[in-house]
Amino acid sequence: MPKFGKKSKERLNECHPDLQKLFNEVIKDTDCTILCGHRTEEEQDKAFKDKVSRLKWPESKHNTKPSMAIDVAPYPLDWQDTKKFYEFGKLVIKKAKELGINIRWGGDWDMDGDYKDQKFNDLPHFELVTKV
Ligand SMILES: [Zn+2]
Repeated sequence: MPKFGKKSKERLNECHPDLQKLFNEVIKDTDCTILCGHRTEEEQDKAFKDKVSRLKWPESKHNTKPSMAIDVAPYPLDWQDTKKFYEFGKLVIKKAKELGINIRWGGDWDMDGDYKDQKFNDLPHFELVTKV
């Protein structure tokens, strides 16, 4: 059974308990690596500058404590293999549904199941949908 490495575990620990619960289940099925949990102001500024994020501090769901967002990629990591990212995203959504966790994926922001109506893809990004 795949297991998270030390860095992944540290990043996961910065996240909301629901995200921890979800990805502790996901890893049992498929190996993955946690790229980012919480982002500090400095890290968010950098992510914005590098166009990894469209948001400025403290607007990102990565900026809260615990973090309401997490970036996870299938392992071994291959950014060119988008097919693998889509398969992974679908698996995470399915798991979240089973666990009753409401989640939004950066591969389907409007959550309509259509992956082609996107202006901005953020395939490793998953965030908790909070009721307002
Ligand atoms: Zn993210």
